[in-house]
Amino acid sequence: MSNQFDVVVIGAGPAGYVCAIRAAQLGLKTACIERWSDDKGKPTLGGTCLNVGCIPSKTLLDSSQKYVEAKRDFSTHGIKHSGVEIDVAAMMGRKDNIVKTLTGGIAGLFKANGVTLLHGAGKVLKGKRVELTRADGSVEIVGAEHTIIATGSRPIEIPPTPLTDDLIVDSTGALAFKSVPKRLGVIGAGVIGLELGSVWGRLGAEVVVLEAMEGFLAAADQQIARESRKILEKQGLDIRLGARVTASEVKGKDVEVTYVDGDGTEHKITFDKLIVAVGRRPYTENLFAADSGIEMDERGFIHVDDHCNTSVPGVYAIGDVVRGPMLAHKGSEEGVVVAERIAGQKAQMNYDLIPSVIYTHPEIAWIGKTEEEVKALGEAYKVGTFPFAASGRALAANEGHGMVKVISDKATDRILGVHIVGPSAADLVQQAVIAMEFAASTEDLALTIFSHPTLSEALHEAVLAVDDHAIHIANRKKRR
Ligand code: FAD
Ligand code: AMP
Repeated sequence: MSNQFDVVVIGAGPAGYVCAIRAAQLGLKTACIERWSDDKGKPTLGGTCLNVGCIPSKTLLDSSQKYVEAKRDFSTHGIKHSGVEIDVAAMMGRKDNIVKTLTGGIAGLFKANGVTLLHGAGKVLKGKRVELTRADGSVEIVGAEHTIIATGSRPIEIPPTPLTDDLIVDSTGALAFKSVPKRLGVIGAGVIGLELGSVWGRLGAEVVVLEAMEGFLAAADQQIARESRKILEKQGLDIRLGARVTASEVKGKDVEVTYVDGDGTEHKITFDKLIVAVGRRPYTENLFAADSGIEMDERGFIHVDDHCNTSVPGVYAIGDVVRGPMLAHKGSEEGVVVAERIAGQKAQMNYDLIPSVIYTHPEIAWIGKTEEEVKALGEAYKVGTFPFAASGRALAANEGHGMVKVISDKATDRILGVHIVGPSAADLVQQAVIAMEFAASTEDLALTIFSHPTLSEALHEAVLAVDDHAIHIANRKKRR
C-alpha cells in the first residue's frame, strides 16, 4: 500500500526532521507530516528552531552585536569611522534570507534521504494509523508501524498581558519589529527574554526586564549568574527581579504595565513595545483521537519513558512536547535515538549531558552540575576558576570579560560541571561536553595540550586551578 509507512513523524522541527532523516538512512520507509505553510501555501520545514527560534534570533543577535562593535569598539582597535547607522529592514531581510535557505535545505535533505513529505495536520488514531488533513480540507489515513510525535511547543500567554497586533508581542513578534522601540519592556528574564532584550537594547532601545522570581538564572551556577547579571546590566539592560507583572493597559501607541515588587509595592511603567517571554508550553492541540490512549503528564507534556516511548506501543514522542529542556539539540538527539532503536540498535540518550547556552554577549553556557547542585548532594568537591581578563587571546579580541569555572569530584577528580560566561562560551563548553562524555578527570584535561593563544586556554587554566596550579593567575589556597 503506497500510504503505509514503517515510520511516520508528525512535525518537521529539529526533533522531527532529524528523526525522519535518520530513520530513512536506516532503510525504514519514512514520511514526515508538517502543517506549517509559507505565504504561497508551500510547506515550511524546520519548525520553531529554523523559522521563529534559534536561527532568526541568532541572526539578529549577530547583526546587532556587529552594530555595537562598529559604534563602540572599533575606535578601541584604532579604526576611525563616522556615521554608523542601523537599517532595520535590511537586517530583517538578511535574517529572512537565512531562514529561507535553511528551511529549503531541509526539503533538499528529505529528497536526498528518501523521506516522503506529507503537507497537512497529523492526528494519531488508534491502531497504527495517522490521519492527515490537508490545507484544502481533504483527509487521508496513513498507515504507520511506528509513529513519532514531534509537534513542539508554543509561547505561553499570561492573562495580564494579552497579545496585540504589534504592541504586546511574543518572541515571534519580537523577531520582526519594523523599527527600534524607544522603551522596550520584556517580561521574563529567561533565555529568550535576555536574548531578545539584548538584540533591541544593542540597537538603541531602553530595555527593562521584569522577572517575577527573586533569583537570576535559577538553573545556572549562581556565581556565573551573578557575573552575567553584572555584565548585562553594564551593557544597559535594566533587570528588575521580584517584579511580577499583574496588569497592562494599551494607551494609544503605548502600553502601561503594572508590576508588584518583592515588598508588595505596585509600580507602573510605560513602554512602546512589550515582549512577553514567560516560557513555552507543549503543543498537542487536536493531535489525538479521543480513544488513542496517549497519556499526558500533569503539565500537559506527552508522558514518555527514558526512551521516548509513550503509553501506546509503537508511538513515541520527542522534543519540546515531552519533559526535559526545551532545546533544539535535545530534541534532535532524541530523534536519532528513537530512529535507531526502531531499527533495532541499542542507542541511548544521555540526559545528564545536555549543554545549555544563552547567546547574550558574552555568551553564557554550561554543562553538568552547578556548585549549588553538587553542594546539595553532600559530596566533597573542588572548584577552579579562570577570568578571561587574564587570557591573552580574549584581550587581543577586546573580550576580556567573564570567567570559566570547573567543578570536580574531590575523591575521583572526575569533572562534574563546567560553567562559562565569556567570549564563545557556547563553543568552549562543547569541549567540556566531549570530555565529560568520556568521563574525563581534571587531570586528563590538565595533561592535554591547548593551542596558544586561544580562548580554550581559559578552560585549561580553570582545570589547572582546581588543584591550585594555574599558571597565569595566582592560586588562592582553598579550604573545603
Ligand atoms: P518545533 O521546532 O516547535 O517543531 C514542531 C513542528 O511541528 C512545527 O513545525 C509545527 O508546525 C509542527 N506541528 C505541530 N503540530 C502538528 C500537527 N498536528 N501536524 C503536523 N505538524 C504539526 N533552542 C536551542 O537549542 N538553541 C537556541 O538558541 C534556541 N533559541 C530559541 C530562540 C527562540 C526565540 C525560541 C522561541 C526558541 C529557541 N530555542 C532554542 C528552542 C528551540 O527552538 C526548540 O527547542 C525547538 O525548536 C523544539 O524542536 P521540536 O522539533 O520539538 O519542535
Ligand atoms: P523561561 O521559561 O526560561 O523562558 O523564563 C520565563 C520567565 O518568565 C521565568 O523566569 C518566569 O519567572 C517569568 N515570568 C512568568 N510570569 C511572569 C510575570 N507575570 N511577571 C514577570 N515574570 C514572569
